[in-house]
Amino acid sequence: AQKELETLREKDTATSDGHRITLSANIEFTNELPQVAQSGAEGVGLFRTEFYLLNGGEMPDEHQQEKVYTEVAKAMNPHLTIVRTLDAGGDKISAEPLSSPEPNPFLGWRGVRVSLTRTALFKEQLRGVLRASTAGKLGVMFPMISGIAEVLAAKELLKESMDELHREGVPFDENIQVGVMIEIPSAAVMADEIAKEVDFLSIGTNDLIQYTVAVDRVNPYVANLYKPTHPAVFRLMDMTVRAAKDNGIWTGVCGEMAAQLLLTPLLVGLGVDELSVGPHMVPSIKKAVRSLSQAECAEMMQQVLKMRTSPDIAEISKNMAYRHY
Ligand code: PEP
Ligand code: MG
Repeated sequence: AQKELETLREKDTATSDGHRITLSANIEFTNELPQVAQSGAEGVGLFRTEFYLLNGGEMPDEHQQEKVYTEVAKAMNPHLTIVRTLDAGGDKISAEPLSSPEPNPFLGWRGVRVSLTRTALFKEQLRGVLRASTAGKLGVMFPMISGIAEVLAAKELLKESMDELHREGVPFDENIQVGVMIEIPSAAVMADEIAKEVDFLSIGTNDLIQYTVAVDRVNPYVANLYKPTHPAVFRLMDMTVRAAKDNGIWTGVCGEMAAQLLLTPLLVGLGVDELSVGPHMVPSIKKAVRSLSQAECAEMMQQVLKMRTSPDIAEISKNMAYRHY
């Protein structure tokens, strides 16, 4: 089986009927890069930077950040690396000590909300990414977007950062891909508008599920209610993918759902363009995608979008998976 997975590395990630999907990896640290290369991933779909930026000491400055992003961009070249800007707060490390603890951190000062209030820190990161963008192919992505205003505000700060580098004569990729995470239901609902402002959407199912069904993703008391296959989640994901297609941009999935083999038929059926998973899951997800027919999965999705319960959706996907791999 190991050997089979190794021969897979050289093969395309495409369904049996020729629908190509970019299969990339999620990373948190640069020491994962050898494993990513080994896995056959086509780039990094999610570089979670909060672990690097908030490791206890002082936050790295733009030049230190440039080094790290350059390292990733070089290692992945010619493939795309998507740097997600700081996603502090929620269940993750907090950006700074707060004068009073937040009663509901998941509904609180998190992700791009922090970046849009601490704009100097945010721009430091953006300039670090831009400086590194000539070393390979970099994209930048904003987490915890709830609507169009945050997209515009984040893009404005990106533009300011670009203008500053221009004035300093620092070269960077003028066409760097800019995307947002769709992980809050309001963003999925507004995806048709958001898609007009960005180059890609990446669905963060971990948070999208938690916010859709109002179940804290780390609370054991309600873990049984955290349902990845809840019909509402698929309706929101379908809205997102269709909004992207209508606007000629691509959609990825970088939440855990992308790495769940029994749910791969659903993501293929939605017609997503990219899946980003932990490096160790790359070979088996590739194998699953290669054995599925996109047309058959899309037909299944038509049924899924009419289903009423989570077990029904889990069941139809599992059956498809078992039939093919
Ligand atoms: C997600 O929410 O699905 C996601 C990929 O981001 P994180 O798990 O870092 O919140
Ligand atoms: Mg998230």
